[in-house]
Amino acid sequence: MEHPIWNKDVMYLKRVGPQRAQLLASECQIRTYRDLLHYYPRKYVDRSRVSRIGQLPAEPGFVTLVGKLTHLALKPSRKGRNLLQGTFSDGTGTVELVWFQGIKWIQRQFKVGEELALFGKPNRYHGQWQLTHPEMEPLNEEDGQRHVLQIVPFYPSNDKLGRLGLDARGFRSLLFQLLEEAAGHIPETLSPALCARFQLVSRREALTQIHYPRSHEALQAALRRLKFEEFFFFQLMLLRRRAVARAQHQSPPFTRIGAYFNTFFAEHMPFSLTGAQKRVLKEIRRDLAQPVQMNRLIQGDVGAGKTMVAFMTMLMARDNDFQSALMAPTAILAEQHFRKITAMAAKVGLKTGLLVGGQKKKERQAVLEGLASGETDIAIGTHALIEDPVVFHRLGLVVVDEQHKFGVVQRARLWKKATPFPHNMIMTATPIPRTLAMSVYGDVDVSIIDELPPGRKPIKTVVRGEGKRLEVFGFLRHQLQQGQQVYVVYPLVEESEKLDLLAVEKGFELMERYFTEYRIGIVHGRQKPEDKELEMQRFVKGETHILVSTTVIEVGVDVANATVMVIENAERFGLSQLHQLRGRVGRGSTQSYCILMAGQKLSADGKRRLKAMQETNDGFRISEIDLELRGPGDFLGTRQSGLPEFQLANLVEDRDLLALARQAAGELTAQDPQLAAPEHQSLRFFFEKYVKRNIGLGTVA
Ligand code: ADP
Ligand code: MG
Repeated sequence: MEHPIWNKDVMYLKRVGPQRAQLLASECQIRTYRDLLHYYPRKYVDRSRVSRIGQLPAEPGFVTLVGKLTHLALKPSRKGRNLLQGTFSDGTGTVELVWFQGIKWIQRQFKVGEELALFGKPNRYHGQWQLTHPEMEPLNEEDGQRHVLQIVPFYPSNDKLGRLGLDARGFRSLLFQLLEEAAGHIPETLSPALCARFQLVSRREALTQIHYPRSHEALQAALRRLKFEEFFFFQLMLLRRRAVARAQHQSPPFTRIGAYFNTFFAEHMPFSLTGAQKRVLKEIRRDLAQPVQMNRLIQGDVGAGKTMVAFMTMLMARDNDFQSALMAPTAILAEQHFRKITAMAAKVGLKTGLLVGGQKKKERQAVLEGLASGETDIAIGTHALIEDPVVFHRLGLVVVDEQHKFGVVQRARLWKKATPFPHNMIMTATPIPRTLAMSVYGDVDVSIIDELPPGRKPIKTVVRGEGKRLEVFGFLRHQLQQGQQVYVVYPLVEESEKLDLLAVEKGFELMERYFTEYRIGIVHGRQKPEDKELEMQRFVKGETHILVSTTVIEVGVDVANATVMVIENAERFGLSQLHQLRGRVGRGSTQSYCILMAGQKLSADGKRRLKAMQETNDGFRISEIDLELRGPGDFLGTRQSGLPEFQLANLVEDRDLLALARQAAGELTAQDPQLAAPEHQSLRFFFEKYVKRNIGLGTVA
């Protein structure tokens, strides 16, 4: 499949040898011919257009010239160090050339009268063009043009490499040599049909052109082909994993929609579902009917109504005699879910149980017994749910809220509480742009609730400087007088928890001083969980009017009467986090506000984030901008996300190509899942190698 030449030690390439080979290995991880072939240029400079000396503009910049050396001689300088002078002519004018270094080499390489191509930046000096240290190359160079007169590649190099001649020129020579020797052996990986269908140039063409592009178009075509291949192999691997997981993860099919679901839907539903909620429920229902584990990520902006979707799914589980579990990242959230779901469940006679840390033994024991006997239908809790003493009678559905706070391992532990596996549903309000979700969650299906319940007024977002603080406070007072509640959030500066605390406490004092007629609560990470809980509850019940806090209130808490979110030092927050925080208000039908208090010196990114917040309320749009600002690695955390480091492709910039590669991988998997067809043998060979190299990647969810 692959010609043996690609495993050849790079040492044996002409002009390399043991010393350079060692350096190539230690500095660039280049050991074989194959490694060198995939050592791509970091940039290109177009030296293909030839200028004429007689027509140079006043300040020409870098130019390529073609002509002859008409004179070349040493000139002794005053300090005893020689310099080399030459004259270069192209028939329309002359340029004086000067060298201070590398004189011997120049004298050896170039002779008067020889036709040359030259690249450099001429200067006008006393009415004469001068050029110091031009790049030169004979026009009739036997092994071809490399450094001038074309689009010239520049390879990553460093001083160590440069000292052994492996600078930009040196690498160009190596790659030129390599392609001379081996280009004929560059194998194709994709089938001709696939290349034709997606308009991809051959791999040989692509790998030749990426090193020595004949034109800008050829270079673009080469890049497109190679990026496509990077995406395609990754997608193919995800699809294979998914197929394997599906074969292994059997789950009980939920075939019935029965009395629990129907009764609740017909008699107790407090509102009508949005179109998006209905659509997602249908997608879930289709999954659950299969004897294969559902693995579905429900993305929905804050307030989109994910809880109701989860609850309706639990009713489906119950209709098929299965219990459900809902796991939330914090006790506050778990308890909030518990209250809401218990109230709804009671309407159809279902029992719920709560499991969080710090419960009384007796209380906890009762819940455990209910779950083990099957008397309790729905378990709600924190990671307390996955602890060993928790045993289910018949667990059929696991719902995880705010997915990114849990790891893969934790989720798997909950699955193990049932055989066969329970169905799995993940809810998140931190949407990932669809293209990215496709590529990251290879083995998860994605549903999107992209519609808010009717009657919500879009939150009004403004940015205010410190100078406007009194005005802002005036506005807050006005809102409080209307009976509304207010959040004030301070950023988390990771270096010092103490300083954070200080900021929050100062903020609290400020509020107490200014809003003497109102009650103020405070919540931060250093409080005992019980105290935090108590403060939260007071705010939920309306006993406090202003809640000063750190970002602990970030996820999920739902206080419909709170209509103003003030974010202090808003420029310090990430975009997704700002959006999450803003989502704490605007949950009822009253007009809500988000006030971003900005410091004085904003970075460009900081400004962009605040601007984005003012421009849109759409979480998907926000996440796209966030992704653009941060790049995929930072956005997801490359390590945790299981994303490979693509050599050329970029998940943000090349998302259209990613979608194509995804489509191609899907079509191929449907058509020839084992890659058994003769025309796929080469692909199969290279794909197996790819899979081996990338074991452990792409296993986020
Ligand atoms: P999130 O998706 O952020 O978890 P929730 O499930 O907490 O959102 O829902 C936000 C609020 O909207 C809740 O008070 C919920 O009762 C309400 N809600 C959900 N769906 C609808 C709907 N279709 N019509 C009206 N209100 C709804
Ligand atoms: Mg929620």
